[in-house]
Amino acid sequence: MARKLAAGNWKMHGLAADLTEVARLAHLVTAVDCDVLLCLPATLIERGVRAAEGRIAIGGQDCHRAASGAHTGDISPAMLVDAGASHVILGHSERRAACHEDDRLINDKLALAQAVGLTTILCLGETLEQRRAGETLAVVRRQLTQGLPPDVRLQRLVLAYEPVWAIGSGLTPTLPQIAEVHAALRATLEDRHGEPAGGVPLLYGGSVKPGNAAEIFALPEVDGALVGGASLKADEFGAIVAALAAA
Ligand code: PEP
Repeated sequence: MARKLAAGNWKMHGLAADLTEVARLAHLVTAVDCDVLLCLPATLIERGVRAAEGRIAIGGQDCHRAASGAHTGDISPAMLVDAGASHVILGHSERRAACHEDDRLINDKLALAQAVGLTTILCLGETLEQRRAGETLAVVRRQLTQGLPPDVRLQRLVLAYEPVWAIGSGLTPTLPQIAEVHAALRATLEDRHGEPAGGVPLLYGGSVKPGNAAEIFALPEVDGALVGGASLKADEFGAIVAALAAA
């Protein structure tokens, strides 16, 4: 059984004044029976860890594939750990599109991030054109198999199925569509890695809100959510966390 995880992705939002939301969320979700994570902008990670007081985990949103070097503006996995991060998002569709990240690059990042102790959240998902062409399962299986190094540590792996067209759009797939992809991801993982793959949390992401969270969390093989916009405010994200804990 995979542990349940509610993960927030603040993207390029958040200044020091917004750390009050981190502190508020940390107090709201104190006794809930699921893991809670906020992936903050790199500038806020260290202060976010302090604000969270150990009640929720704090992660990064990306890292470089190299351990160190002449990469102006980039952040290594060890730097995230040094700042107090426990997790990192990799392969988010915004980075795949805007920064031309491919599966090979994401695979390298994931291997290095796991090697320094980070739990890696690998994002997968089809574009609207790919869904209309009936390619959804082929796309996410390819992103999964090519994004994972052969010696992937399953205990440090989380998958997030995020249809590109559902992110920030207010649109979501139907519940059977989400269930179909999650079942395919679990089957692909188990084919390749055997029974321990059952412990890898499978998150859904894309316009999750307090109003639709419970029905999504009731689906088989949905172990939580990766949440963008609705993670910025503690009350809204807290309601999603509560729905997950109750599922
Ligand atoms: C995301 O960016 O990973 C995401 C799911 O965003 P939103 O919840 O805003 O659709």
